[in-house]
Amino acid sequence: MTGILYDASVFGPIKSRRLGNSLGVNLLPGNNKVCTFNCVYCECGWGKKPLGTKGDFNDTTLVLQALEKKLQDLKSENFPLNSITFAGNGEPTLHPDFPYIVNRVLELRDKYFPQTNITCLSNSSTLENEKIRLALIKLDNPWMKLDAGSQKMFSLINQDFQNLKIENIVENLQKMNGQLSIQTLFLRGFYNGEKIDNTSEKEINLWLKHLKKINPKKVIIYPIDRATPLSGLEKIEAEELETIVNQIRSAGFKAEMYY
Ligand code: SF4
Repeated sequence: MTGILYDASVFGPIKSRRLGNSLGVNLLPGNNKVCTFNCVYCECGWGKKPLGTKGDFNDTTLVLQALEKKLQDLKSENFPLNSITFAGNGEPTLHPDFPYIVNRVLELRDKYFPQTNITCLSNSSTLENEKIRLALIKLDNPWMKLDAGSQKMFSLINQDFQNLKIENIVENLQKMNGQLSIQTLFLRGFYNGEKIDNTSEKEINLWLKHLKKINPKKVIIYPIDRATPLSGLEKIEAEELETIVNQIRSAGFKAEMYY
């Protein structure tokens, strides 16, 4: 598999377009993507259907020890840390100890960097599980993926392994009671001769209807930024994304674009 994989459970801090100085926490294995999706633009490259066994994930105790050590080092340097971020080689909420890990990371943040946000980049596919929803809403920034309006575009872009229905994903996002942000990557291209385009009027209108149900605190949109596993995908121009930002604002939501 080509793509960027993080071999450490704690990586960075890296300078993030969206988050500033971000310290990554990777709960997934170092040599493999573990995700319920296989997005055509995934920076980790193509993946396989996850096995979901405990052995697939980084050890909870070792992750927390590595994080505490790194936070101690950064604090001794007076490092301006903006975010502790669950990210890395797949979907963080698949880790079987995710709710416990969230509680421990909150404690570590409060001890070493009480002003720093905790962010989770999640693909929104695991929210049927109430414990995961409750864990996510404890965080400052649960950034939940919603890349499509229609079922067809969702399947084409996110290549979900579980045959989820986008309506169910939206219903589960609604259950987070507005304590979330939505993140959406806009793109165009082709997959096996089928047109990928989540910027069309039809797609945007459906997606805005989903947003109205979900009522997010903020909507974050961005284009492709790095090499993608599916070739030929188009980076949407900033001007076109600005039009979408204006549509989001007209619908009554805060919007941010990262280019
Ligand atoms: S949800 Fe994230 S990690 Fe999973 S395939 Fe999509 S981009 Fe990659």
